[in-house]
Amino acid sequence: MAHEEFTEKDWRRLLISLGEDPDRPGLHETPSRVAKAWQHWTSGYKEDPAECLKVFEDGAQEYNELIIVRGIPVYSHCEHHLAPFFGKATIGYVPDGKIVGLSKLTRLVNCFAKRLQVQERLTIQIANALMTHLEPKAVGVVIRCRHMCMESRGIRTEGEETVTSAMLGELQPNLALRTEFLSLAREG
Ligand code: ZN
Repeated sequence: MAHEEFTEKDWRRLLISLGEDPDRPGLHETPSRVAKAWQHWTSGYKEDPAECLKVFEDGAQEYNELIIVRGIPVYSHCEHHLAPFFGKATIGYVPDGKIVGLSKLTRLVNCFAKRLQVQERLTIQIANALMTHLEPKAVGVVIRCRHMCMESRGIRTEGEETVTSAMLGELQPNLALRTEFLSLAREG
């Protein structure tokens, strides 16, 4: 896929197409600001999920229980409208010797969220990356997000959340583990 540069000139053209005057003082810096902001919002394309999880902590050899990390911030943009969707992710896993801290999980979520996304794919990509690079016995991911493209156009009521989940490894056949994960993911 050829990478065509989208320049400040193009953002100026967008402002004009919206009926704006790009030369009025309030909009003067907008094209360069927007260009910079979109670089940040799509910085996940340059991140490698393997790199995010490279440094793990040992010492969980005896630990066979579910580890749950809640409240991981999610800021993404939907690929259908380029509108923000945002919320929180809960990640649960049963380690097989390796554990990771909150900062690594936040980085992993950012790696996929800072791309153009649909929430369903974001959820499964995070779960798959954990399965591949952390090699746990089980992984569960639940994401709750508000979608501006739906709320602002009246398709959803304000504050309504879309909930998606992905469960891999032992979470698939093990109903008790699945129930435990879902109840822990629901609280708070
Ligand atoms: Zn959308």
